[in-house]
Amino acid sequence: MSLLQSLPEVLLLGPGPSATHPEVYKALARPTLGHLDPVFIRIMDEVKKLLQELAHTRNRLTMPVSGTGSAGMEAAFVNFVEPGDRVLILQNGVFGTRMKDVAQRLGAQVDSLDFEWGNPVDPEAVRAHLEKAEPYQLIAVVHAETSTGVRNPLDAIASLVRPTGALFLVDSVTGLGGIPVTLDDWGVDVFYSGTQKCLACPPGLAPFSASERAVARLQARRSKVPNWYLDLSMIVNYWEGAKRAYHHTAPINMIYGLYAALKAILDEGEASVFQRHQAAHEQLTAGLRELGLELVVAPGHRLPMLNAVRVPEGVDEAAVRARMLQDHGIEIGAGLGPLAGKIWRIGLMGHNARPEVVSRCLTALRTSLP
Ligand SMILES: *Cc1c(COP(=O)(O)O)cnc(C)c1O
Repeated sequence: MSLLQSLPEVLLLGPGPSATHPEVYKALARPTLGHLDPVFIRIMDEVKKLLQELAHTRNRLTMPVSGTGSAGMEAAFVNFVEPGDRVLILQNGVFGTRMKDVAQRLGAQVDSLDFEWGNPVDPEAVRAHLEKAEPYQLIAVVHAETSTGVRNPLDAIASLVRPTGALFLVDSVTGLGGIPVTLDDWGVDVFYSGTQKCLACPPGLAPFSASERAVARLQARRSKVPNWYLDLSMIVNYWEGAKRAYHHTAPINMIYGLYAALKAILDEGEASVFQRHQAAHEQLTAGLRELGLELVVAPGHRLPMLNAVRVPEGVDEAAVRARMLQDHGIEIGAGLGPLAGKIWRIGLMGHNARPEVVSRCLTALRTSLP
């Protein structure tokens, strides 16, 4: 007997992974091709094009990095940061904290501008800091902070970063496929995402993009990229050009899955996908209000796909999550760091951003609360 025959059916409404789209499941089961097969190379080229379309960029270096969203984060820093570089992280949650850790391990001089978790990055504070600080080689921010449900104001931050000449690095692991990502308009130089959030794919790939400016910086490095597996200067020779060179074997079937996921989003139409996420969020917010529950983040700064809900005084948050899972087959997330024990995180990502899913979640919550 295989353990896979008795897998429970769990509705994944946490911070990720989210539900896999039915078309993605079908794609994953297609026959595995060789990584240099001409048919597979056509699929790779199409994945690049679809990613450029969804992220609104003409960056040639746009492709999925092998590994989960964190591999995207690692690739972003190891390729574009050198020892001694001055790096600024705008931090208001777990993922900003991780960026700091990753950049410090590379020997960068890392400054961080910290904001209270649950609040957005404040552009005025960024402006004031940049006016007095020495120039930075790279400035990084998380677009959609999955640990708190905050949407950081990318437009305003981008317009402050651009004139400084620093490379602008954006994590939109949770944003891509749920809210607009417009890399070229923002002037983003280094971008990564993940398949397991709003793209409705299993975890395993990190969509990635780098601007011409960033590529020039990579080519002018004084030192080798300190990570062989994620060295983009080698990986591009597999993803670009008439003659493809083996670096590491691409995760073939995952790339089929990403291809199907991107096609599903673009066939539905970006505007309607974003609208579907917004409507699900509003439906959830209204239902939570009826249950006497509040969101952590102020209106106007909320992510539609990740809702941080304050645990009422005296309620055992872990017991509620356990009842949701055991009695209703629904997984919701707990809080992290300073928000541990204080919030639930309800994700409505990708294929889960639908009215029937929100209704099921609210019904289950009603009976799971004490
Ligand atoms: C989930 C997430 C990551 C990490 O992605 P993994 O797929 O867990 O490796 C990074 N940044 C943000 C904002 C995320 O939500």
